[in-house]
Amino acid sequence: MSAEALRTQQAGDVSATAGRQAKPVKKQPTAAQRMKQRRKRNALLRACIQAVFFVTMPGAFMAAFSGVKSIFLAISDGSALEMGSFVKALLGLGIFTILFGRFFCGFACAFGTMGDLVYRLSGIVQKKIFRRKKQIGIPAKFCPALQMIKYGLLAVIVSACGLGVYNRLNQYNWNPWSVFSFFTSLNFTLNGYVIGGILLAAIVAGMALKERFFCQFLCPMGAVFALLPQLPFSALQRDEANCIRGCQACKNNCPVDLKLEKDGFRGGECIACEKCAGICPKGNLTRWDRKLLKHEAVPVILKAALLLGLGFWLGLVRTL
Ligand code: SF4
Ligand code: SF4
Ligand code: SF4
Repeated sequence: MSAEALRTQQAGDVSATAGRQAKPVKKQPTAAQRMKQRRKRNALLRACIQAVFFVTMPGAFMAAFSGVKSIFLAISDGSALEMGSFVKALLGLGIFTILFGRFFCGFACAFGTMGDLVYRLSGIVQKKIFRRKKQIGIPAKFCPALQMIKYGLLAVIVSACGLGVYNRLNQYNWNPWSVFSFFTSLNFTLNGYVIGGILLAAIVAGMALKERFFCQFLCPMGAVFALLPQLPFSALQRDEANCIRGCQACKNNCPVDLKLEKDGFRGGECIACEKCAGICPKGNLTRWDRKLLKHEAVPVILKAALLLGLGFWLGLVRTL
């Protein structure tokens, strides 16, 4: 090879090496960035599932609670209980809750979804417009006591049904859920439900101040779900020995302010939203299905699909 050809070849080698070196090396995301991406993915998945159920099954919680009322009205009349659609909805969602925890509340109930949306919007308004760093809200220390109110409301409603006065009370059109059902049917009139409309407005105001305000403090159907037994395999497990010292991330992000070290996950108040598991930097909150499927999203998607199928079977999915 001539000296000229050798110089040309060497120059080519050098520029090829420089070209290879110039190629940008893809930076691996840091642990904090990975965590942020994971949270975003989980939030997006939850929002998608909630949107699907909001559109397809907005009346499911009302149907199930009508099942509770039907049982107590039948008791008061002394009549035989008919296995109507409401009672079937109650049984279906009740059995689903016993098997999978309050997944329905965490991911599928339209009223719970509205609560999440209102609280989120309130946070954005407080941050962007009022420049508040911390969202105004009801302090967590009051929550365990306030959570008892819903059991009192449940007792009042079933007593009114049992004593035969519930239908008379209904003449006052006070039920905020009825107004909500008008709105989800795109009928934005009160249809005479003035008291119901005022109560719904008050509930929405509460939802802006506290995450899952209605679910935690006032929902009689939530009280029924909370009183149901839960199978041990349906709950998340926390490996406390493996926790980061001083970390309270899971507890601090629980929308219903569960004291995880005391209440654990099997307390009926847990709405199975899995926010705590999604936020743990060590993946320290898990359950057999998450371990078996080796993915945190797959069990959620499977449960959502199963619940949607159940909704179809029970006639809870509305036809557009
Ligand atoms: S507690 Fe009541 S309103 Fe909240 S998600 Fe459950 S059924 Fe729906
Ligand atoms: S304990 Fe976890 S799954 Fe249960 S309500 Fe709190 S954040 Fe959601
Ligand atoms: S977020 Fe994870 S590491 Fe932190 S306390 Fe909860 S389970 Fe333990």
